Amino acid sequence: MDIPIAKPPLTIRLCGPRGFCAGVDRAIQIVVLALKGYGAPVYVRHEIVHNRYVVEGLEAKGAIFVEELDEIPPEHRQQPVVFSAHGVPKSVPEDATARNLFFLDATCPLVSKVHKQAMRHQRLGRHVILIGHAGHPEVIGTMGQLPEGTVSLVETIEDADVYEPADPDNLGFVTQTTLSVDDTAGVIKRLQERFPNLTAPSADSICYATTNRQEAVKQAAPGCDLFIVVGAPNSSNSKRLVEVALRAGAQKSMLVQRASEIDWADIGDIATLGLSAGASAPEVIVNEIIEAFKARFATSLELAEFSIENEHFLVNRELRPIELTTEDMAWVNG
Ligand code: SF4
Repeated sequence: MDIPIAKPPLTIRLCGPRGFCAGVDRAIQIVVLALKGYGAPVYVRHEIVHNRYVVEGLEAKGAIFVEELDEIPPEHRQQPVVFSAHGVPKSVPEDATARNLFFLDATCPLVSKVHKQAMRHQRLGRHVILIGHAGHPEVIGTMGQLPEGTVSLVETIEDADVYEPADPDNLGFVTQTTLSVDDTAGVIKRLQERFPNLTAPSADSICYATTNRQEAVKQAAPGCDLFIVVGAPNSSNSKRLVEVALRAGAQKSMLVQRASEIDWADIGDIATLGLSAGASAPEVIVNEIIEAFKARFATSLELAEFSIENEHFLVNRELRPIELTTEDMAWVNG
């Protein structure tokens, strides 16, 4: 007779908030509603949010992802094209207008707020310092709100140490929305030490969702043998959560996109697992990962809740008459 082997016990500390923020939710809704209202195909410039599951799910519904507008064939120019949640340089809507395209801008309102803060600095004659990661689409979009030569990118404290502006007394800064709160505070401090007249934006550029997810991870990570962040390798906010977990005391931390990616041999003996998800990671994948652990461990779930979020952003005016049902979003929300 086979004697059943008892599963080892595992406490899963599930962070709250985690996963979709209001900006990501809105961006996905925009594509779903455009498909419902205008029919396939709907073009999307760049990954709508940095998550393969979301992109592939929308592709299955009829979305076509392109990197540039000239990839849209002439016979589909009457179909909508959606700009991603990360925001786009000013030249993109200008180009879309020149091509007579029907575009729907899914830029997160909190990214648009940073664009306005940067433009305000520039209008008041300040040279703009953007703290962010080179090459990230949000950084490209924010820099593209300003005339060339009026914005400089600073990524690290080392960059802040060597940055030499033409007029040190006339500077204003903004930041990417998804940075590490603690690292960014260090970069700002160094810039302020060097340039005492540096002007801050009227409100923090790092968004509520980034801040809340990092705080929840900070609270949950101490004592965790392993901390899993559900998210993509090109998701800035997800990568920051991995770093935050390690700094806050998790023994080990990793990004996971799907349960099938987990290397169980590498997981080894663990008693406490921390679990969170980046702002672009769907809840269905969090559930999938919990189920995968349940199959191998006798799990008990603890909620590590830092705050409850109630933010909600309206979709574009043209899409508001189209009804969005719970079923329309069940493939991501579960
Ligand atoms: Fe908007 Fe923040 Fe979400 Fe980015 S992470 S889409 S800025 S709410």
